[in-house]
This record gives sequence, structure tokens and C-alpha cells, in this order.
Amino acid sequence: MRLLEQLNFENERAVVRVDFNVPLNENLQVTDKTRIQAAKPTIEYILSQGGSCVLLSHLGRPEGRDPKLSLAHIVSEVSAVLGVTVHFCDQVVGAEAVAKASALQAGEVLLMENLRYHKEETKGDEDFAQQLAELGTVYVNDAFGTAHRAHASTTIMAKHFPDKKCFGSLLAKEVNAIDKVMKDGESPILAILGGAKVSSKITIIESLLDKVDHLIIGGGMVYTFTQAQGGIVGNSICEPDYCDYALELLEKAKAKGVQIHLPVDVVAGDDFSNTAHQKVFPSNAIPEGWEGLDAGPKSSEIFRELVLQCKTILWNGPLGVFEFPNFATGTISIGEAIGEATQSGAFSLVGGGDSVAAVKQLGLASKMSYISTGGGAMLESLEGKTLPGIAALNA
Ligand code: AMP
Repeated sequence: MRLLEQLNFENERAVVRVDFNVPLNENLQVTDKTRIQAAKPTIEYILSQGGSCVLLSHLGRPEGRDPKLSLAHIVSEVSAVLGVTVHFCDQVVGAEAVAKASALQAGEVLLMENLRYHKEETKGDEDFAQQLAELGTVYVNDAFGTAHRAHASTTIMAKHFPDKKCFGSLLAKEVNAIDKVMKDGESPILAILGGAKVSSKITIIESLLDKVDHLIIGGGMVYTFTQAQGGIVGNSICEPDYCDYALELLEKAKAKGVQIHLPVDVVAGDDFSNTAHQKVFPSNAIPEGWEGLDAGPKSSEIFRELVLQCKTILWNGPLGVFEFPNFATGTISIGEAIGEATQSGAFSLVGGGDSVAAVKQLGLASKMSYISTGGGAMLESLEGKTLPGIAALNA
């Protein structure tokens, strides 16, 4: 992995692929600047070394030049976060774009217009990638959130900088965090997988069985496993078509020496709502008219003890319908336990899909070692795939 520190940026113009795909309100103001702040260390480093930065990003999914999705709306916010004046170019490629980029002096920053105004970006078009490459003399990728896409700016343009390309510090941090679980995690390694459906997590479960010592399965996935084992799941979410697969998976885990932990009890509701009546049932004996919506108290205690024994913990997916505060206890409880384990020296990584939203909403974010910024990119990494954006930097 070639890092920022291994390149000389003096008098170089770095084209930095950042992820400024930030939410805007109806007045087109940035409502969450986390992603801009996340790119700051890389940009600051390049400027401090005597370089200049040409920033490339997408915003939303425009069909052509949609003015609502212009990056012009975020220029003042980027300037405020970086503490330097940020210039803007309303083009991405072409003579004017190259002229503006070439005029940059050391210490200056230029933000280009939305990459996705050009359909060639997501198509990974070779000519478009070459035009992007003309904007700078060095290529830095700091956009983990799009590293799983073989787009022109995230992957294809890297080849035009054979010796002058590197990981931005955010991208490097993300890759290191994933490697700490998937490649060199300290044992015992525990993965906690929650969420709604088994069918959407199959490739992740398969890949994790080769990496972990323990796997907690929670959330709506539980009921497919319980039904497969002959349990009664009432009205709980269940995928009968995946029962055979669930049994196969339990066998595979056994053969690989991975211990699978399912909740022994669940908090069920008589309706899919926050105000539903609640009752605790054994997870394999949920009567008709009730659906499991959270891990039960005994399960939470068992999970807590397990979490505290583990040295490496990966968490993807809530253990219940955390959006309903009355059914968030199991998710909060495991989050608290991960926080305790982390304080005692374990490494904890949270990421993928809804997990980050859950952790933030429940106030658990500060207790984790690392929270990934990339939903889809994180999920694909957990599936064991090499992300094209990362492969292109290492080529
Ligand atoms: P995922 O995106 O696969 O991580 O799934 C997250 C979603 O799973 C959240 O919106 C949860 O509300 C949902 N979920 C978790 N547990 C259950 C459950 N027992 N029944 C229905 N949905 C659930």
C-alpha cells in the first residue's frame, strides 16, 4: 500500500478523488459535513508539503447537468472545513478545466463540478479517465465509499499515474481496519451479524466462516435458522426458502470450528410497531400472533459475556428493529458490551449497510475502535472481494 508520505508533493498538483457525496437540505445547504471532515487530513497533508489539490467527487445520481446536484453548493462548506479558500470550476474535463487546474499555485485547492454530470464516469470510460488524468501530476484516492466501483475517477484513471499514485489517509485507515479483522485479527475473533434477511448476507456469512472463531446471528435472520431447526417462529420474519441453506451453514461452521450463537430468547411484539404489546419467548417457541423484534434479556447476557472474551469484534447489522425504541434494547446492549471490550483492549469495527446509522442513532459511536464510512464498499470487503479502486492503486 503506497501511502501519502511515500510521495513527494512539492510543486505537484494532486488530483484527489474524495467522497463529498453529502446530504443537502431544500435550501441546498450541507446538513452533515462528516465526509468533508474525513477528507481533511489528506488535503492538509498535500498542501503542507508544497502541493496543490484538484478535488474530484460525485454528488447524488444526476441525470445530466442537474443544477440541484452541483458541487458549487458545497464550496463554502469545504472552504470552512479546510480553512482555505476553495476555488470552483463548473467543468470536470476539457480545455477550461485543464487551464484552471494548471493555474493552481502551491497551497491552493480547486473543486471540480460533479463527476456524474458525465455518464462516462460511472461507465468507467477510458477517454474520460484520460481527460481526468490531465488535471494533475499525482493521483490520490481517498474515497472509500466508492472504492467498490470501477468508475473512471475511482479506478480507471489510476493507470495514468504508474509511479505517482497513492492511498489517501482515510482510504488507508479503512483498509487497515478491515485487514485488522479479515487478515490479521487477534483471536478470539467474533463477528456479529444482524439485519433483516439471511438472503442478503449469504456471501458475507460464507466469507466470515473462514476468518472468525465465533459468529453471533441476530435480527430478523434468527427466525430462518430457528425454523430450519424445527422451532416455531409465529409471525416473525422468516425466509423458508433459505432453511436448507441455514442448516448447511450450521454444518459448515461446525466443520470449520466456528461457533454460531443464536439468541435463546426474544422480545416479541403482537404487531410490527413501537407501541406493540411485548412478551419474551424462547426463540424457538413464538406463538402465532407474535413476532420476534429484539434479542431477549438472557440472550443479551450470554452475548455480553462472549463479547467480553473476544479480542477482535466486527459488527454489521442491528440485533432487532432498533428504529423502534421499545425494541432497541438488544442492539444497545451488545453495543455497550462491544464498547466495554474495546476499552479493555479489543479492536472493534462497525460498518456496512445500516449499522453505522444504528450505532450513531443509539449514541454508541464513540465506544467503537473504528466506524467505516463506506456502506457498500465495506460489505464487499467483508465478502472477501478485492475492491477495484484499491486494486488499481496497488497495480
Ligand atoms: P440490514 O440492512 O440487513 O442490516 O437490516 C437492517 C434492518 O433489519 C433494520 O431496519 C431493522 O429494523 C431490521 N430488523 C432487525 N431485526 C428485525 C426483526 N426481528 N424483524 C424485522 N426486521 C428486523
